[in-house]
Amino acid sequence: MKFREFAEFCAILERVSSTLEMTGRIASFLRRIEDDDDLYNVVHFLMGRVFPPWDERELGVGIGLVCKALENVSGVSKEKIESMIKDYGDLGLVAERLLKGRGIKSLFAEELTIKRVREIFDEIASLEGEGSQKRKILLLTGLYGSASPIEARYLTRLILGEMRLGVGEGIMRDAIARAWGVDAELVERAYMIVNDLGRVAIIAKNEGKEGLKNVKIQLHIPVKMMLAQVAESIEQALREMKTIAVEWKYDGSRVQVHYGNGKVTIYSRRLENVTKALPEIVEEIKKCVKEGVILDGEVIAVKDGKPMPFQEVLRRFRRKHEITKAMEKIPLEAYFFDILYNDGEVIDLPLKERRKILESVIKESKIIKIAKQVVTNKKEEIERVFKEALDAGHEGAMLKNPNSPYTPGKRGRHWLKLKEVMETLDLVVVGGEWGEGRRSHLISSFELACLDPRTGKLLRIGQVGTGFTDEDLEELTELFKPLIVKEEGKKVYFKPKIVFEVAYQEIQKSPKYESGFALRFPRFVRLRDDKGVEDADTIDRVRELYEKQFARAKS
Ligand code: ATP
Repeated sequence: MKFREFAEFCAILERVSSTLEMTGRIASFLRRIEDDDDLYNVVHFLMGRVFPPWDERELGVGIGLVCKALENVSGVSKEKIESMIKDYGDLGLVAERLLKGRGIKSLFAEELTIKRVREIFDEIASLEGEGSQKRKILLLTGLYGSASPIEARYLTRLILGEMRLGVGEGIMRDAIARAWGVDAELVERAYMIVNDLGRVAIIAKNEGKEGLKNVKIQLHIPVKMMLAQVAESIEQALREMKTIAVEWKYDGSRVQVHYGNGKVTIYSRRLENVTKALPEIVEEIKKCVKEGVILDGEVIAVKDGKPMPFQEVLRRFRRKHEITKAMEKIPLEAYFFDILYNDGEVIDLPLKERRKILESVIKESKIIKIAKQVVTNKKEEIERVFKEALDAGHEGAMLKNPNSPYTPGKRGRHWLKLKEVMETLDLVVVGGEWGEGRRSHLISSFELACLDPRTGKLLRIGQVGTGFTDEDLEELTELFKPLIVKEEGKKVYFKPKIVFEVAYQEIQKSPKYESGFALRFPRFVRLRDDKGVEDADTIDRVRELYEKQFARAKS
């Protein structure tokens, strides 16, 4: 296919604003393409992508290189091009203008085809190191040398990742369905598995409905990950699932690991290839995992046995070079909780069966682990795991239906996440209790209150006894001792002065405290010594957060 046809079609699309019309036009354009490679490239190009999202290659071409190439082709000076960019605000239009000014292109210049553009993009992406910039400019100059003005407009936008046609995945999915008369849902399902709408289009074109139905998970091609919804409550989850597989919700970054044909490939939550960023995980997988599998899990960064903020793991993903240095600073562990593929077969079994297979293919080590899981129908047991995960510094728990299949890309109700809410409360400490046993010399739980700004009264809302280290408690006991105004057995009452920042899982209505509310699973986050009693959160704020929970649960 001529690149010119593609560019002219883009110019038409640019003027269409209705989604329906755009879908229809794309469908008929795609249907006209005979060659599979052309179809593949056009699907991605229309979405403004030079490479599919799972491909880690990049062109590595910025405005500077494009300008240099345009300078070479048009003979117009750098200064002039820069001032044109200011006037037009879009390098695509500038390129078009410059090539118009060039007059008729050389008779010997080849006509651009989609294939030729693809080849040049591939070559540009493969260049590295010394001399690569020069070579890139040369290749770009060649491209523009063969381009007509309208081709130059879209080439430029494509190269710079600024197609702006408004063609997203949704429109493309519907257009593919329409082009070959198949169900959009089938297209969607195939897309979740092969992760590449270009490939899905080829299957729809050549094999139609049956082909799409037969699309299978394959090693080293990332599959969209199954996602979770927010759990309204443990009771609700129990009503829905009856028996629940409870796991820690590890606070790290999602990974999908493919191990087969002697090779390990690791994909991130966004299905980017992050293999290079995780060399020690790759090595360990080769030692501890049976070959021929696709695993789903979470990589966490650990320091002194506690997880570090998950941003640390993401930082590692971003850092493609300097990995050895990062390895020393950020030690990682991987926890696997699911398996999608084993021995050349897609695992179409319920979670409880997948779990057995998962356990049989991994030999745990210091770095590679299987996520903890408890299968139960008891609320208390679920609460225990939830607390245990929080105490270990993780995010909460995942409540999974043991009888559910793995559904790629779906955010369904078979996986529910139970987290502490993000908002914390700053509350005044009005009382406490001496601990037991080893902690009998320490005040180890604290009574909290919010403020009624109208009356200035402190209204109790709950008691916090988790989130402290022994050191924290030593320090806090020293801090509170001079504030004790009354003691009754183990109970102590303080002069209100100190404010704690507290996280919690949920705010509930409760007659137990005069605020009328109680915190579920409150945990100490830190001392707010920058705040006084008058700065503490008010009863109005508590009510507001209480109401927000319902909105959140519904969304
Ligand atoms: P969040 O911000 O809650 O992590 P998310 O949109 O990234 O949300 P969700 O599907 O909503 O993802 O929540 C599940 C996420 O929790 C997974 O993407 C994964 O990164 C993480 N996770 C940690 N432990 C587990 C586990 N045992 N099972 C499933 N997911 C887990």
